[in-house]
Amino acid sequence: MPVLKPAAISLMKPAVRFAPSPTGRLHIGNIRTAVLNFLFALKHGGSFLLRLDDTDRERSTEAFAQGIRDDLVWLGMRWDREARQSDRTDRYEEAAKALVAARRLYPCYESEEELSLRRKRQLSMGRPPIYDRAALKLTAVDRQRLEEEGRRPHWRFRLDNTSEETGLQPQPTIVSWNDMVRGDQTVDAGSLSDPVLIRADGTYLYTFTSVVDDIDFAISHIIRGEDHVTNTGVQIQIFEALGAEPPAFGHHSLLVGADGQALSKRLGALSAESFRAMELEPMAVLSMAALLGTSDAVEPHGRVEELASLFDPAKISMAPGRFALEELEVLNAKLLHKLPYADVAARLQVLGVGGASAFWETVRGNISVLREAADWWRIATSEIAPVIEHAALCARAADLLPSGPWDETTWGTWTALVKDVTGAKGRALFHPLRLALTGRDSGPELKHFLPFIGRERAKARLEGTVG
Ligand code: GLU
Repeated sequence: MPVLKPAAISLMKPAVRFAPSPTGRLHIGNIRTAVLNFLFALKHGGSFLLRLDDTDRERSTEAFAQGIRDDLVWLGMRWDREARQSDRTDRYEEAAKALVAARRLYPCYESEEELSLRRKRQLSMGRPPIYDRAALKLTAVDRQRLEEEGRRPHWRFRLDNTSEETGLQPQPTIVSWNDMVRGDQTVDAGSLSDPVLIRADGTYLYTFTSVVDDIDFAISHIIRGEDHVTNTGVQIQIFEALGAEPPAFGHHSLLVGADGQALSKRLGALSAESFRAMELEPMAVLSMAALLGTSDAVEPHGRVEELASLFDPAKISMAPGRFALEELEVLNAKLLHKLPYADVAARLQVLGVGGASAFWETVRGNISVLREAADWWRIATSEIAPVIEHAALCARAADLLPSGPWDETTWGTWTALVKDVTGAKGRALFHPLRLALTGRDSGPELKHFLPFIGRERAKARLEGTVG
């Protein structure tokens, strides 16, 4: 095992990782974990590892792994390296041997039923249901007998929580660290069962594989959800038992729904895939994921560099961030409303939207997803069915249309003239004109939009013919 000294870590570029299990696609909860790590790496010029935690062989699939990569790419997050736990069994074997040699990993033979019975007994006696370490007392002969009965051992990590005097009896033993998000943290190893690191079928558990990987990939900072706080207490001891300096940890609060309830039941609807199907902008999703539950305002940012410069783990609040899909939709619209033409020009071209920056700036304030810019382009340049609310007014207005060329002063001059001639004003004037010209009763400012419609179409629409 490489031994990392604290000095070595501080001299190195930070290295972070995002470690999803490929048992599903990304959702707002783990998008948040991913983006916080990604921004940390970006801000500090560090590296970002994508690690696929596929120790659960039954539920992990390559299709999910590919789905996660696609989700990250869509969100604009790139990783420097990728690792997959199922490729690293040799390293886990080596590390497990080192722990056995150090007498920190020991074989246990209890079945699930025996353990559950024991826990019930402990609880009925008012004791905490902690594993009693009976297996530590087994002699070589006992073990041989158990193996001959056909039992295969699972392996537990012996937490460092006993003193010389008390022998096997766990004592309060505090593991502490200064959390990047939560400040000073403590976990009492004396209140925990020795964790199983290797199952009876020989497969390794995440608690262990994660530490071996974090050591081998020289991960300097682990940013993950606060549901891992207790794990951290255990994992710090595993790092130390393997002779490695533990990395820095930051545990962010978890997101909840607007109603304060856990998001877990609704995650399907809150997946990157469904955000994509809703045509939301990746940067709106990233802005929300990065800023929700922090002391920064949740505002849309068009570039990841802006989010990276704001990023500071100390700004992440301890209270859960409340996530509402409607707020993400509003944020998406706000992002589009301020996006410069250069950022969307290529996509507008694909959508068939012309008119360059002038058209984009005319319509961006009236769209909630980018595709709607194409709707407005069609309204400006293709046939629509005009809505004639006031035929006489529209016919008169058609006669009064100025001759070209048109610019943004045309609307004002023309409507002033229509007002003088017909006496119509305010909504009674503007609403019928808008309906006739666009077929909709709200939309972009007509002083900017009218020139894109042009005289010929405007005239036909006001006269109630398709145009
Ligand atoms: N696969 C773990 C999870 O998704 C990773 C936790 C960690 O970051 O260590 O919860």
